[in-house]
Amino acid sequence: MFRIPTLQNGPHRNGRSQARKAALAVVVAVLCTTIVSIKAETARGQDKTSGFSRLSALTNALTLFRVDSSFGKTVKVHDSIYQASGLGNTFMVTTDEGNVIIDTSLSQMAPMHKRVLQAVDDSPVKYIILTHGHVDHTGGVDIWKEKETQVIAQQNSSEFMHYQSRLAPFFASRNAAQYGVGGAAKKHSGNEGGKILATITFDKKYEFKLGGLTFEIYHTPGETSDHLSVWIPELKAAFVGDNYYRSFPNLYTLRGTKPRWALDYVDSLGKVLDWKPEFMLPGHGPALSGNEEITQKLTRQRDAILYVHDATVQGMNNGKSVHALMREIKLPEHLQVSEHYGSVAWGVRGIYQGYVGWFDGDPATMYATPPSEAYPEIVALAGGAERVADRAAKLVRDGHPVQALHLADMALASDHNNVRALQARLDAFKALQSVSVNAIEKGWLSHGIRGIKQRLETVSKL
Ligand SMILES: [Zn+2]
Repeated sequence: MFRIPTLQNGPHRNGRSQARKAALAVVVAVLCTTIVSIKAETARGQDKTSGFSRLSALTNALTLFRVDSSFGKTVKVHDSIYQASGLGNTFMVTTDEGNVIIDTSLSQMAPMHKRVLQAVDDSPVKYIILTHGHVDHTGGVDIWKEKETQVIAQQNSSEFMHYQSRLAPFFASRNAAQYGVGGAAKKHSGNEGGKILATITFDKKYEFKLGGLTFEIYHTPGETSDHLSVWIPELKAAFVGDNYYRSFPNLYTLRGTKPRWALDYVDSLGKVLDWKPEFMLPGHGPALSGNEEITQKLTRQRDAILYVHDATVQGMNNGKSVHALMREIKLPEHLQVSEHYGSVAWGVRGIYQGYVGWFDGDPATMYATPPSEAYPEIVALAGGAERVADRAAKLVRDGHPVQALHLADMALASDHNNVRALQARLDAFKALQSVSVNAIEKGWLSHGIRGIKQRLETVSKL
């Protein structure tokens, strides 16, 4: 992969060392919070290992956010384009008439990003362009915004900000589970509107000129409904936000999201391909340079998404269940992409249920009584919770951890504090975690392990 040279000389030098310190400070702050809470848990007599699984979940979180070797540095992508990396990239496009900032990272990152980028050029910030409304892209708007700065977002951003705010307590608890850190639920009780950041919104396209550069901004839904991409033809530079990252995308993310429409991704990535960019600047990870490599990567990503979409639709029309399709649909050799972030199986389920919603066609499932309410009947027939738990333990040993989880759940539905069932569930989670390559899956398995350990501890005190 082409490595974009890091600036070596000039006024940014101080900025770089400050950047390292600032980046380190953010990482240390997060680590300290985790370690302090681990110590507190240990002091309260809780299992130290649950703290360390939280530490590994934090590592997973950092992996998710693509923290790489350029973290905390200013990278010169082009004479007019500078990148600050971290938990969300910030890009600065410099012109003779002022600068344009594309995405602003998290609020905790933004002061460091601003310092290192303005060490290169501190001309007025004329525009801030937000590729989409996720907090790792919008968090620093207030830090960057000057009196005359215009903030540009696609017109769906208002509804998207409201949606995120309306469900803030729900998302806070899901994020805490998935990433293993944080968890302080937002103060409000939900159903509140979000803060509107944009001063300029548009539907399909917005364009302005500044200092001899043209900024063509297009609605490119994918990661979110308000997603946009920026094309600067004079520089052949495409800013693609989170519509491209170095993994199969999260067509559905487990922390909860509306369907991310597969065909939107296909169209939006196709639009970027048509521009024939020489530089592609994503919201996370390093910029790419050279049209050949960009075309190859974007084409594979687009075609992988289209393949999964088409295979899912074909399977639905052939009467296959969502679970059968989750198992069956695999990317062919020439479309292989990493699944360390998004997963093909979750994408299949997202597409399937995105098209037709939750009902699976079985009349038994349209009532408010879930299958788990029948579990105690099965457990009684099987001879009790202990026998079912023992069978679950055997399934773990025989290499069937997911079936074991279901069986352990049956035993626990009958006997909430059954230690053998809790232990089988714990062992199943650990078995799944030992082979997982997906950071989100690992995060949720860590969450499961923490929960079971707490329950085992509670039960031991009864
Ligand atoms: Zn992002």
